[in-house]
Amino acid sequence: MTEINKVIFSNHDDSESASIESYINIGGYSAWKKIIESSDQNTTREKIINEVKASGLRGKGGAGFPTGKKWSFMPNTGKQQYIVCNSDESEPGTCHDREILQRNPHALIEGMAIAGFAINATVGYNYVRGEFMGDCYLQIKKSLEEAYEYGFLGKNILNSNINFDLYNFLGAGAYICGEETGLLESLEGKQGKPRFKPPFPANFGLYGAPTTVNNTQTLATIPKIIEKGSEWYSSMGTEKSKGTIIFSVSGHINNPGNYELPLGISFNELMDISGGIIDGKKLKAVIPGGSSTKVLPGHIISKCTMDYESLEEAGSSLGTGAVVVMAEGTCMVEMLKRISRFYYAESCGQCTPCREGTGWLYRILDRITKGQGQETDINLLIDVANRIEGNTICAFGDASAWPVQSFLHHYFEEFEFMIRNKGKSRAA
Ligand code: SF4
Repeated sequence: MTEINKVIFSNHDDSESASIESYINIGGYSAWKKIIESSDQNTTREKIINEVKASGLRGKGGAGFPTGKKWSFMPNTGKQQYIVCNSDESEPGTCHDREILQRNPHALIEGMAIAGFAINATVGYNYVRGEFMGDCYLQIKKSLEEAYEYGFLGKNILNSNINFDLYNFLGAGAYICGEETGLLESLEGKQGKPRFKPPFPANFGLYGAPTTVNNTQTLATIPKIIEKGSEWYSSMGTEKSKGTIIFSVSGHINNPGNYELPLGISFNELMDISGGIIDGKKLKAVIPGGSSTKVLPGHIISKCTMDYESLEEAGSSLGTGAVVVMAEGTCMVEMLKRISRFYYAESCGQCTPCREGTGWLYRILDRITKGQGQETDINLLIDVANRIEGNTICAFGDASAWPVQSFLHHYFEEFEFMIRNKGKSRAA
């Protein structure tokens, strides 16, 4: 079995791990202190970005864009710039960011301070999913107060000339605010409707100022990279997919949960670690990276390793690392209907193909499952999905089309069977 190194969850054996004392005891805030004490701040900024680039860290929010490269797009305008954390974790199947907020909040706070310093941002916002308003939000709120009490945030931090203020912001519960420009609109107090791009946030972000938006897990990884070095981080994972990722494993699995593992671990090993398929059943299919990623049949994914390249080659993607496992007996028509219902409900409505198309997809699937499907419905589903893909302002449109395309590609017969048999499932 692969040796398991951890970056995010390394202090999780301690039940008090969320406290600032616990975090400091395991070396927390030492990277931030070292930066604050450095004599030449401009050189330090450059060094941090180069270190993050060399680590190979890629954004964990779904797109996998290299983090250091993203930071290097930020200009230095000499005016207000921002770092924003996307803690609006809403991708179906994904539940690791909430665990970071609850169990390792100071890694995120330290990561945001370091990122803010590196990109000349003296103000940061942590945009937290509205549904996290209970324990999760209370924890990150408390942790932020602790960081201020210890002097790690604020003006003239630890008697230096460095300033960094950080605020938590609770969203109102819309999936589309996880799209970075929708998030910025929401943060500005408007409806969370994604913006046309370009310009990208590095040039025109929050309040029109240069802004970088990174995901919770990405930012919580930063302190360890700065403390232990890029070589340490890049020694884990594969040649192109470096480091670790937290897999959220759900569905027909014995021990669903969050597992931080090196990228490149085999799918079969991930299944073993998470206890195997329930009731000793056979694997039917897997959505490997959250509901926006394409479904893969069991015989394909069981030959894959869990990294960006292997899953892309197999016809899907790593996404957020949310692995939804489906055992034999799962009705793929019902499963797709449920996914399509989600996208229909969450479309922000700005683009016609997405606003109208997601409704069409859901209604066609709904009538198929109710025994009212027509022979022409399969082609209609494909047609609607193809007209949404690539024709919208944000990636939500593609995310609603890809499940339809991939489910029909791999499980065409199940849809055909249900239409011909008036709603009877072939999987039952
Ligand atoms: Fe809104 Fe959908 Fe257009 Fe994205 S693709 S901007 S969610 S209507």
